Amino acid sequence: MNNDVLTIIVPCYNEEEVLPETVKELGEILNNLIKKNKVASKSKLLFVNDGSRDKTWSLISKYTKEYTYVTGIKFSRNYGHQNALLAGLSLAVDFSDMMITIDADLQDDVNAISKMVEEYYKGSDVVYGVRNSRKTDSFFKRRTALTFYSLMQKLGVNLVPDSADYRLLSKRAVKSLLDFKERNLFLRGMVPLIGYQSSKVFYARKERFAGQSKYPFRRMLHFALDGITSFSIAPIHLILYLGLITVFISIACMIYTIAEKCMGHVVSGWASLMISIWLLGGVQLISISVIGEYIGKIFSEVKHRPRFTIESETYTSKMKKL
Ligand code: UDP
Ligand code: MG
Repeated sequence: MNNDVLTIIVPCYNEEEVLPETVKELGEILNNLIKKNKVASKSKLLFVNDGSRDKTWSLISKYTKEYTYVTGIKFSRNYGHQNALLAGLSLAVDFSDMMITIDADLQDDVNAISKMVEEYYKGSDVVYGVRNSRKTDSFFKRRTALTFYSLMQKLGVNLVPDSADYRLLSKRAVKSLLDFKERNLFLRGMVPLIGYQSSKVFYARKERFAGQSKYPFRRMLHFALDGITSFSIAPIHLILYLGLITVFISIACMIYTIAEKCMGHVVSGWASLMISIWLLGGVQLISISVIGEYIGKIFSEVKHRPRFTIESETYTSKMKKL
């Protein structure tokens, strides 16, 4: 018999449409694991309400009263998906031996949970949920995701391809993760950095059960850029090369201009002058903005603002009672 406590953490932002189904499916999985003595009876579902503007929190509160295994955290406002995951982990770590994070929309196969738990008992501290098919994603989402992973690889950031925020972490893995004090969270880049023994569980990603994606293209792009600038200074190196190339080109231009001048074709310099002004101006603006991006990161890091504010939660009291 295993008595390890599992907490399943579910970030929710305007998820009233899927929540009833999510509670039902995850509840079934959890109770099955408890019944089979795979996890302790204290194990819980922990819903993190990330400042939703719909009925998400009142639904969570209702289920909290109805079922002993449902608990919730209410943020004071919207802090974003990554912060919601971190809040769940930081609250659960004191009471659980393993924690699984999963999206509320049931896109990730809930049946992988029991496989993850098995891997945990085999000795893994980190179990990644990896998609083995992206059939249900749109062509566009699939392409952009693939480009992103290969770009990150080239920039020297170690990511597990096709794994998102569906994973199991052991108590000590979460403790190590919580030692990372950065404000700009990019969990899928941070988790591989904590080390420990890891394994993968494969599953097919489904369509969103209901409701709309909270990651439209603009937000996805922002998230990707955030990932790059939080984990790699390769873009700054790139600027150096860009600068060097520009200098070489301008040396060539200089030789050409001097030669032209010696030959007396003075007006002919107009075209090259115009081109260099525009080209150099553009290169400089891009470079400054890249550096600015990093300075922005430093700015938000040194302010050291809280990563989330919890307005109320029902997890701790339930865990203490049992
Ligand atoms: N989410 C959140 N805060 C946000 C945006 C999203 O907690 O500001 C949650 C959302 O409720 C869901 C998960 O993060 O459980 C993933 O979002 P979504 O399914 O919309 O992203 P996609 O699967 O389309 O990338
Ligand atoms: Mg989704």
